[in-house]
Amino acid sequence: MNYQVNKKGYYGNYGGAFIPEMLYQNVEELREKYLEIIYEESFQNELNTLLNDYVGRPSPLYYAKRLSEHYKSNIYLKREDLNHTGAHKINNTLGQILLAKRLGKTRIIAETGAGQHGVATATVCALMGLQCIVYMGEVDIERQAPNVARMKLLGATVIPAKSGSKTLKDATNEAIRDWINNPVDTYYIIGSVVGPHPYPDIVARFQSIISKELKSQLLIKTGNENPNYIIACLGGGSNAAGIFYHYLEDEKVNLIAIEAAGKGIHSGYSAATSVLGKPGIIHGSKTLLMQNEDGQIIEPYSISAGLDYPGVGPLHANLFETKRALFASVTDKEALDAAFLICNLEGIIPALESAHALAYLEYLKAKENDVIVINLSGRGDKDLATYLKFMK
Ligand SMILES: *Cc1c(COP(=O)(O)O)cnc(C)c1O
Repeated sequence: MNYQVNKKGYYGNYGGAFIPEMLYQNVEELREKYLEIIYEESFQNELNTLLNDYVGRPSPLYYAKRLSEHYKSNIYLKREDLNHTGAHKINNTLGQILLAKRLGKTRIIAETGAGQHGVATATVCALMGLQCIVYMGEVDIERQAPNVARMKLLGATVIPAKSGSKTLKDATNEAIRDWINNPVDTYYIIGSVVGPHPYPDIVARFQSIISKELKSQLLIKTGNENPNYIIACLGGGSNAAGIFYHYLEDEKVNLIAIEAAGKGIHSGYSAATSVLGKPGIIHGSKTLLMQNEDGQIIEPYSISAGLDYPGVGPLHANLFETKRALFASVTDKEALDAAFLICNLEGIIPALESAHALAYLEYLKAKENDVIVINLSGRGDKDLATYLKFMK
């Protein structure tokens, strides 16, 4: 099986580029040029130097001894939380901004949910001296206030999205609207493996550094580059795509994607797209999508702003349909409990998103000799207010 995107921009039955005519030129230019640009030697040199010296890569692979004892297995954490700006998002923003510069773009726009992608975008725009506009749902602006402050400090303009659930999907709609109005000078940095082709492939390639590093780190630590399980949380799916990427064709490695069940999958307050979703089109691609009988999007919900999205990227829709990855979900409460557990056992405060992946350890029937890798996609500084509210 091949799980990569094909020439037409599809992962199996999912993907494509369903875009308004006004954006056709932009997306087509990107599609024609992206592979050539990003695999050029000078591009790779510039990107790798910044990944090492600015982001702090490679991110450590940490053997979580006390967590392993607790679950009677061998648990490693891939520490994307230690990256500059506190999450995996910067792997992608750095790559895309170098791409934007080579395309001659001067104005950068982005959407953000938890604010991590917005912060990462504002950061690289400051680094490169480019104008930065970030769209963010009004609800998210409130619950992720520290990240809004960081974006402003870094010189970005944050524009609230006031429609719908006032969260990530609405911010994405606003960003697309801006792009339609400014097609010539503006580059839209999408923050996850979503959007029209070639975006999902661009983001997956930039995030694939995670599994590239993981292979050599595991080989050194365990003598085998393949773990038994890889677990990642799934919003749009970029951190999962990154840590799955170099294992996709190796069917011996079990890939597990964890969605947000919110207050319960069928409670009406959930973002468990693989269970509740059907094929549909959102933000330019055909994928699994939470929608009612009329095709209207059902408002998603999760305690974690980064997982609060009604779809998954087309790569993941295909992994779900082909059963290459196992999709499961955990509730707000289970994620909070997992966060408190790892705070106490390992001295690590995880992002609420990452806590969803950790929570699945309660369900995984691993053996004593199994090797489990969890992608710790980000750190919990931005979630302190939520944690304090629920701390016992
Ligand atoms: C944005 C974010 C996510 C969710 O996005 P993906 O594209 O699914 O990775 C997960 N964890 C953290 C820390 C994030 O900032």
